[in-house]
Amino acid sequence: MNVKLRKPLIAGNWKMYKTAREAAELVAALIERGAEKHGAEVVIAPPFTLIAPVLAAMGGSRIGLAAQNCHFEKQGAFTGEVSAEQVREAGCTYCIVGHSERRQLFGETSEIVGKKAKALLSEAVHPIVCVGETLAERESGSTLKVVIAQLDAALVSFGASDIAKVVVAYEPVWAIGTGRTASPKDAQDVHAVIRARLLQMFPTTADTVRVLYGGSVKPDNAKALLAERDIDGALVGGASLDAGSFISIIEATG
Ligand code: PEP
Repeated sequence: MNVKLRKPLIAGNWKMYKTAREAAELVAALIERGAEKHGAEVVIAPPFTLIAPVLAAMGGSRIGLAAQNCHFEKQGAFTGEVSAEQVREAGCTYCIVGHSERRQLFGETSEIVGKKAKALLSEAVHPIVCVGETLAERESGSTLKVVIAQLDAALVSFGASDIAKVVVAYEPVWAIGTGRTASPKDAQDVHAVIRARLLQMFPTTADTVRVLYGGSVKPDNAKALLAERDIDGALVGGASLDAGSFISIIEATG
């Protein structure tokens, strides 16, 4: 039997989907179907404007809240941006940083991702740091080099106590929103290398860091992925928009 060393974390990234009414309905359905009654920690990441309605719909639920992004500066003339402090004040305990859509569409570098993660830690918000290779990088055999370089650059200024509060998400870009998933073995191979690198960088604290897999996780592939030794949970996009699919993925942790 595969006994998990770390409590599984299932995080739903809603991206730019849902109205306030739809968000409240989805949260109600998740609670009604017992999303927080399984062994996993469950977190949802709605768009910024839906954080307050989602929080209101959650009542006393143990489902956690994440933001999808933040700025690294404390405050200032950054039109359209939201600070780590504002993320925390809004009720988020997690925040995704460096999602491949941010890297590809908004020019975020790993250095920026690291600064955002640091800003979040200063507000006691757990960063979910995303890394992952493109299809061209995978096909040219540079997956591990790319992923480790992203990780190193994002975590370069982190101390041992910082890392214990971080979550890493390995999300191969070619698998996000495409319906293509890394095989459990391919995902596990990358997760094992990420785990080894974290332990090399932070030998005393990296053991507690959860490394999630993301990229077309669905009810029918979740169990096999989550059974892998170094996969500590999932970052779920499309399938988190439907209560039934998201619950099935949460159930796959147990
Ligand atoms: C994501 O947005 O992080 C993601 C993994 O999306 P999907 O599950 O739709 O591939």
